[in-house]
Amino acid sequence: MTTPGRVIFIGAGPGAADLITLRGAARLLEADVVLFDALTDPELRDLAPQARWINVGKRGFCDSTGQATIDALLVRMAHQHPCVVRLKGGDPSVFGRLEEELQALAAAGIACEVVPGITAALAAAADTRRPLTRRGQGRSVSLTTAMTQQGALRAGRHADTEVFYMAGRQLGRLGRALRAAGWPEATPVSVVSRAGWPDSVASDHALADLAGAAVLHAGRPTVVTVGAGAARVASPTLTTSAALAAGAETTASAMPALAP
Ligand code: SAH
Repeated sequence: MTTPGRVIFIGAGPGAADLITLRGAARLLEADVVLFDALTDPELRDLAPQARWINVGKRGFCDSTGQATIDALLVRMAHQHPCVVRLKGGDPSVFGRLEEELQALAAAGIACEVVPGITAALAAAADTRRPLTRRGQGRSVSLTTAMTQQGALRAGRHADTEVFYMAGRQLGRLGRALRAAGWPEATPVSVVSRAGWPDSVASDHALADLAGAAVLHAGRPTVVTVGAGAARVASPTLTTSAALAAGAETTASAMPALAP
């Protein structure tokens, strides 16, 4: 082909295939080739049976060689096919290396589009029924990676609610760093792994005992919500029976009950 095709970045959402947007599903049907990440649901393949699917997934940090290979592959595929989809877990704009891939395509003069998806922080809030913003208490939310590019752990206090990505293996250290940054020991922390999947697990902690969450979520993609948005929603106006009927005392129904 002389004229390159276009590249569509699609956010697959955090889990089950039905959490992709209608627009994302419609664009997948147009794809000739799909470059996808390991975290996305295999059932998404049913949305583009006509396409060639290529797994470019990686867990945790990918080194620059790995990212450069993906960038080059995207450009090469766009020179060979009219429609290339780059499917990413969650939302492409959140810790998804979108910047590098957009730069590579821009340098090659290739047109692209970005279709948003549900990021893990939002899926965790939904699973636990914990609104990220709270009237009067939670006016700001930050999406943060606790890990710097060099692999160091850094955490501060920048918003009423902070959601940490990529901290699952460092929960004890994250708790200590947050306390050092001025969060009180009793600050509520909600830890959710595999948010949006049927086997999602959620647990509640105080900052002081965040290390205890490590064993519950080991080896699973995990987000850590700290502050106002991590608090349980109280239901003082419901009667006891109405509260039980509404499931007010339980966490998400699909999740095993875990002691805080
Ligand atoms: N673009 C993705 C984030 C990619 S970075 C998004 O918008 O969600 C990878 C990190 O995201 C993981 O280390 C974990 O912290 C988080 N993550 C991704 N999927 C998750 C899920 N289903 N449940 C909990 N955390 C998840």
